[in-house]
Amino acid sequence: MDGSRGSFVARRYMLPVLAWMVLTLGALLGSDTALAAELRISNRYSPLNSERPVRKQTEYIVLHTTEGSDQPSLRRVRRGGLAHYVVMRDGQVHRIISRRRVAKHAGLSMWDGTTNVDLHSIGIEVVGYHNRPITGRQEIAIAELVRQLQELYDVPDDRVLTHSMVAYGNRNRWHRRAHRGRKRCGMLFAQSELRGRLDLEARPAFDPDVRAGRLVVADPYLATLLYATEPEAVIVAEAQFEGSDNNVITKDRSAWFIARDEYASASTVYVLPNGQRKRGNEIRDWSRIPRGTRVLMDQEASDKPVWAELGKDGFTPSEIAGEAYAQPTTIYVRPDGRVHRGSELTSLQFTRLPRGTRVLVGYRLVGEVTSRRTAYDLCGAAFRNDTTLYVLPGGKVRSGREIRENRIPGGTRVLVAS
Ligand SMILES: [Zn+2]
Repeated sequence: MDGSRGSFVARRYMLPVLAWMVLTLGALLGSDTALAAELRISNRYSPLNSERPVRKQTEYIVLHTTEGSDQPSLRRVRRGGLAHYVVMRDGQVHRIISRRRVAKHAGLSMWDGTTNVDLHSIGIEVVGYHNRPITGRQEIAIAELVRQLQELYDVPDDRVLTHSMVAYGNRNRWHRRAHRGRKRCGMLFAQSELRGRLDLEARPAFDPDVRAGRLVVADPYLATLLYATEPEAVIVAEAQFEGSDNNVITKDRSAWFIARDEYASASTVYVLPNGQRKRGNEIRDWSRIPRGTRVLMDQEASDKPVWAELGKDGFTPSEIAGEAYAQPTTIYVRPDGRVHRGSELTSLQFTRLPRGTRVLVGYRLVGEVTSRRTAYDLCGAAFRNDTTLYVLPGGKVRSGREIRENRIPGGTRVLVAS
């Protein structure tokens, strides 16, 4: 508290001077380097940067979470020009799109009647997850970056928004009207405690587009988290929606609720309770997707087997495999190549599986290739199938189509779709 009082005074009197210096320097250099002061910030411009038009207005700053780890997040955001800045786990900030240009970060979006928020905002991608704490170094970096941008563009605290606040969806099978709740992205940046640490005193008190009847609420839990002022309301909502972030379809959690606007995408895979897999784009009749179906997001759109990864698709075995997590037909492949059936692991061992452990639901571990036992001996003609997997000693995984029959090293474990 003492510190924030001091910095408030400092802000009050120092900032007009600082802002003038920053603006002058920026004008002199004609570039973005004015923002470098006190921030570890480096240029990692997207190849799309120079194609993006110059933005005419800047009324908002929108915070996102990448839902992934450092390098994959950075690659994805650079490739698509999906934000102006990326804040890494260690607080390093990368500049992806010039702050003067348009970054495509908000997608289908609306705030206070203004649509296409990209044309009116700066977008910051924070490496992390919408429902997990960010690092202390990220907090420091974001506070400073946002403060400088607020000064430059005269953006008040209650216009520092989250992607989940501004994203909306058009009507679909589950919602007869345009709705808020298409994304939970960045929702933690609505928490008053975190905002306090970021030196953001005000947040929006309500959703202006819902209030005006332009949109309806599709995710009451999200709405509570974003706008409730009573801490009790948030606790009640959390208890009510406990586990609402896991990936199993239930009476209260539809395919839309889990996958949002990706529900019908080829990269969203549905693993039915009977082990059958369907991609979102293959499903015609959504009423026939039963409860207990697991939803895996961001799967490569091909006919390759469906992997899920601890730390990426879920944080615990049951978040990924649902009730099947301890079944003999749920297979865990550690990054070092050790392979376990779900039925072989104790509850303690489940909690100790490292990030990056790959999880296969509906697979059988049929054995190990040795000098006397070939892949053909283990699984017959299926040894060539694209869905048959070989875990080589050391952890690399190859499919039946990629492997040469007589070149399979001893100790390779063979997994067959069941
Ligand atoms: Zn986002």
